[in-house]
Amino acid sequence: IKKIAVLTSGGDSPGMNAAIRSVVRTCAYHQIECVGIYRGYQGMIEGDFIPMGPRTVHNIINKGGTILKSARSKEFMTSEGRKKAYDQLQKAGVEGFVVIGGDGSFTGAEIFNKEFQFPVMGIPGTIDNDIFGTSHTLGYDTALNTVIDCIDKIRDTASSHNRLFFVEVMGRDAGHIALNAGIGGGAEEILIPEEELGLERLLESLKKSKASGKSSSIVVIAEGDKIGKNVFELKDYVEANLPEYEIRVSVLGHMQRGGAPSCYDRVLASRLGVKAVECLLEGKSNFMVGMLNDKVTITPLLQAIKGESEIDRELLRVAEIMSV
Ligand code: ATP
Repeated sequence: IKKIAVLTSGGDSPGMNAAIRSVVRTCAYHQIECVGIYRGYQGMIEGDFIPMGPRTVHNIINKGGTILKSARSKEFMTSEGRKKAYDQLQKAGVEGFVVIGGDGSFTGAEIFNKEFQFPVMGIPGTIDNDIFGTSHTLGYDTALNTVIDCIDKIRDTASSHNRLFFVEVMGRDAGHIALNAGIGGGAEEILIPEEELGLERLLESLKKSKASGKSSSIVVIAEGDKIGKNVFELKDYVEANLPEYEIRVSVLGHMQRGGAPSCYDRVLASRLGVKAVECLLEGKSNFMVGMLNDKVTITPLLQAIKGESEIDRELLRVAEIMSV
């Protein structure tokens, strides 16, 4: 392989730039060419490429978002679209690509690899941490730190006014952010999609907490929680059943996806970028690079797409004990 492309696809996350930098510099280190593809698969179809060298990625390790931009491409989901993308890569002399993204981006890469026997590697980039084959996805650690920073601030006002706060965090169908930031932020209750707490148990728990002398509390709720009510309906329901509580809702939203990546995410991005490029150079293809037990590993893309990234049940127990 003489030339590798790198792209970011799907939702952005902090650490994507550090991963782009790592891919580009690993190519330079091994004296092969690297091109950046703008706007994910859409830019691949349109041939929106830019040559990248070690100096073109200076000053980005500390930046959130992605300098290559990201996009969702409907056209890439069609075989005509993918043929156009293939032709563009051929024209540019690209012999393999590294895609930084989530499940959808990996699915696209997997299909593309099958169709054209084109070497591909994936780097998991999403704050949700919902990908099988890695303990951490790029941006997850940064998002956790952002969330606990917010919870700490909310706690100040909650305790000054003796209030109960419902804090909704991101994570789509996964509760990783809620569970970990809930424990790290000292939440009273944590509601996640993987564990059906139930409305009755929530009321019981809040009643108990009032009786135990707590004057203010924070409940962290994953956006994908399946309690059957959105966070505002949940507030109304709890207030109607427990009039002693005055509740405020805070939906943290997209701030969780931005910001300078944490040191952990920068190191993770650097390690995964090196591995992704070196795999392609060794003739490996169709894998996702990830981190398991602090070792860089590779998982077949199909397995990464199909597998479940389960939550750590032990954390649920820790959370329960902490809210005594
Ligand atoms: P995030 O986790 O942030 O949503 P993602 O990578 O899962 O990231 P998607 O929007 O699902 O984000 O996918 C990104 C892109 O990957 C899509 O816009 C599309 O171009 C491509 N893609 C997704 N699914 C397929 C598919 N089945 N076939 C071909 N391409 C696909």
